[in-house]
Parts: sequence; C-alpha cells; structure tokens
Amino acid sequence: KLYTSEEIRAKYIQFFQEKGHAVISSASVIPDNDPTVLFTTAGMHPLVPYLLGEKHPSGTRLTNVQKCIRTVDIDEVGDDTHCTFFEMMGNWSLGDYFKHESISWSWEFVTSPNWLDIPKHKIAVTVFEGDDDAPRDQESYEIWCALGQCEAEIFFLPRADNWWGPAGQTGPCGPDTEIFIISDKERCGPTCSPACGCGRYVEFWNNVFMKYNKTAEGKFEPLDQKNVDTGMGLERVLVALNGGTVYDSDLFTTIFSRIAELSETAYENQPKAYRVVADHTRTAVFILGDNYGITPSNVDQGYVLRRLIRRAVSFAMQLSIQEGGLADIASAVIDKYELIYPELQSNRDKIIRELQAEEARFQKTLAQGLREFDKLSISLVNGQIDGAAAFKLYDTYGFPIELTMELATERSIAIDLEGYLEKFQKHRELSQAGAAQKFKGGLADNSAQTANLHTATHLLHAALRKVLGDE
Ligand code: ATP
Ligand code: MG
Ligand code: MG
Ligand code: MG
Repeated sequence: KLYTSEEIRAKYIQFFQEKGHAVISSASVIPDNDPTVLFTTAGMHPLVPYLLGEKHPSGTRLTNVQKCIRTVDIDEVGDDTHCTFFEMMGNWSLGDYFKHESISWSWEFVTSPNWLDIPKHKIAVTVFEGDDDAPRDQESYEIWCALGQCEAEIFFLPRADNWWGPAGQTGPCGPDTEIFIISDKERCGPTCSPACGCGRYVEFWNNVFMKYNKTAEGKFEPLDQKNVDTGMGLERVLVALNGGTVYDSDLFTTIFSRIAELSETAYENQPKAYRVVADHTRTAVFILGDNYGITPSNVDQGYVLRRLIRRAVSFAMQLSIQEGGLADIASAVIDKYELIYPELQSNRDKIIRELQAEEARFQKTLAQGLREFDKLSISLVNGQIDGAAAFKLYDTYGFPIELTMELATERSIAIDLEGYLEKFQKHRELSQAGAAQKFKGGLADNSAQTANLHTATHLLHAALRKVLGDE
C-alpha cells in the first residue's frame, strides 16, 4: 500500500494534537519581519521571537505543516532527495518539554503500528559528537539507547551534521538528533554513514534542542527558555514509507502526467529535466501564490523567481515543450494543492498570467541571445567562448550561465568560466558599491538589503565555483 501526502499530513497533526499541541497555520513563504533571509526555509523560522522568549498566543506546544523554500538546494534538484519547495511538518516546545519527550514521541510516531509503522531495523539515527564550543549530546544518546536504538545504527557526528541554527546565522540554535531511513543500497564501505552522502541513508526528521542563542559576535549564550524544534519533510517521509525518490509520491503524479502530455519525451528518458521543470514550476507557483505580490524582477525574491522560471523554461525546451507550456504545468500544480493552500486558488489567475508573461519575456531575450551565441561560436577566442562574452549573455540577454554551458556542451565548445566569474565578481563589487551609495544615510537595514541582493545572485554561481574547485 502506498501512503499519500494527505494521509501523512493528517496523521502528523493528529499525533501531536493528541500530545497536547495546538495547530497553527503555515506562515507565508516570504518571511514577514526578517530581512536576513529571502524565504522561509524551515518551520521554526516564523517562530523565532517565541523561541527567544516571547509568549505565543496558542501556548507552549505547537505543531503545523509549513511551506518552505530552499534555493541553496537548487543544484541538488534532480537528485533523489532535494526539492526547492517542500512542506515541513513540525512540532515545537517553547520552554515546555525537552529531549526525553521529543525523542520518545518521534520514535512512537515513526515505529508504532498505530502511526507510521516503519520497521525499527530500517531506522538509523545521529547525535552531536561535541566540540570546543558545546559538549557531546550524551543525554540524547542515552534516550535513544533506552528505546533500543543502540543495538541498531546510531552515529555520533560533528557540528556540520548535527547542529542546527537558522539560515540567518544568529539566533536560537543547538545540537540536533536526526532520523534516517536505511534504503536498499549496500554500504559504500567501512566508513559508510549518514554523513558520507552515498545515498544509503535518507534523512527525514530533525529534532533540534535549542539551548543556545548565537550572538552576532559568534558566542553561544544559554537561553533562559529551552526549546524543541523539529522538522520532518513531507516528501522525505513519503520516501521512507513508500521507497523511491522525493519525486515519486502522489504530490508529483498529476504534474508529471501534464508534463508528459506536453512533451515528446518520456520521464524514463529525461528524469532530471522532468524533475527540474516540476520542481521549479511548483516553487514559482508557491512564490506567486503568496499574498505578497512578488513578481519576476532583478532583485531579491523577484530575482530568484525569475531565475526559477527561466531555468524551468530552459529544461522544458529540452523536453520539446512548446511556449506557454509552463503555465499549463502550473495549473496542474494548483489543482493538486489548492484545497490545502487556498491562497493558490484565489491567486490562480495572477499566477498563470505572471508565468505566461515571464516566459514570453524570456523567449524574446532567448531568441536574441541565441543569435548572439551563434555569433560567438564562430568567433572563438583561444578556441573557447571568452569570459566577457559569456557574461554579456548573462547580463544583457538574461541567460542563466547553466544555459550557456548547456548550449556550449551541445556544440562541443568550451567556455572560459574563470573569465566569466571574474567579470561577474567585478560587476558585483560595482553594484555593491552602488547599493552602499544609494543607501548611505538612508535605510537603516542597508547591510541586510545588500546581503539579500547577494544571496540571490550568489546562488547562481555556487555550482560554478564548485566546478572550478574553489570550494
Ligand atoms: P539534507 O541534509 O538532506 O540536505 P537538511 O539537513 O538540510 O537535509 P534540515 O535543515 O534538517 O534538512 O530540515 C529538516 C527536514 O526537512 C529534513 O530532515 C528533510 O526531511 C527536509 N528537507 C530539507 N531539505 C529538503 C529539500 N531540499 N527537499 C525536501 N525536503 C527537505
Ligand atoms: Mg540540506
Ligand atoms: Mg542533513
Ligand atoms: Mg538535517
């Protein structure tokens, strides 16, 4: 029997209601009062003031399903476990219960025949091993042992894996313990672990024990109020239950069938393109569907939105989907989600209109850019497309660098990526200086504004720098 997304959302909420939690609604994907990040990346995000001690009107035990967007994962999209949009089910203790209840309840929910009923031998867990700034989380380890997990797979891992804080760097944070499903993949070697990245272990739940507040100076101050913050990815827990990938559940079935109707290529032949188109369109729908009036632009959330749409269009082209196809795929997304997120229903017309308009704008620059690209490919510098030219394609014609790279690969032409990056950095420094000038003596949150601008443009280049071996 395959579990559905509807079933799992309902079970999760019911379980935590029975444990005395009040249900709160999902906050917007655009953070309300937080200039340090562009999008809500986790369920705890809208709760930061309450984690720091403010009284929440619904009490000290909360639960919900939160819409999340993580653009840092954009290069992972197409693998088996990452999406740029996903739903995070969460439960919180605001100075109420702590490690014992949290871990025991997670275990009960995951393994009890009344709830998810996942066989215990298929579960692995990780615990913080400790370092100079904070001790090893022996307490969590012992709680897991008492539940029987020490006879199974349990791993101590460093801060990079078992410590959680908000994306904005400062704020409530602490050690966490994570729950993984052990897939059918063999161990990749003697050091195989949830941190090795081989895919044997799929993370689906993270329980964070927030005992600290990280200050701007990088100090960890103990919080007066000890909190629990957990996040379970809906797409991931469906993998734990049904097997397969985050793209295999009912959440994507009708979206993929729509793509298949519009394309001449089957999913089996182009799984990555299918996944990217489905994922990016879904995320764009949720950004446009929020009541914040974000539309495609060259700054902040609007820039990310533009980039997602254009990247989706580029991949749709690989599937021979005709112009206008994206809006059609977006209606399939809205159809799937509108009962759970009614804002998509009320914003349906706007979502479709904006997608059509952005796709049309992109097609126009694309046609011009392709002509420019053709010119470049017959006037190569040192046998390759030089960096300045690649930058012009980006700057003037709005070509995402991936698109230029794909076109070049198709025609077996090399690109001077280092030259491109150099141009890009220079451009960024100039616009940074420009922004600083513009905000001087004006807006108080100047640094946050420019930081946002950077995050957005930065993302595009992270992958590239990885390719070049800079990080
Ligand atoms: P990963 O290591 O797989 O990238 P993470 O450690 O970054 O995940 P957390 O910050 O711990 O994830 O978020 C809590 C939960 O949210 C994860 O356990 C997972 O179930 C889910 N999740 C995180 N990132 C994604 C994503 N990009 N797509 C789908 N689900 C995700
Ligand atoms: Mg991650
Ligand atoms: Mg992780
Ligand atoms: Mg995690």
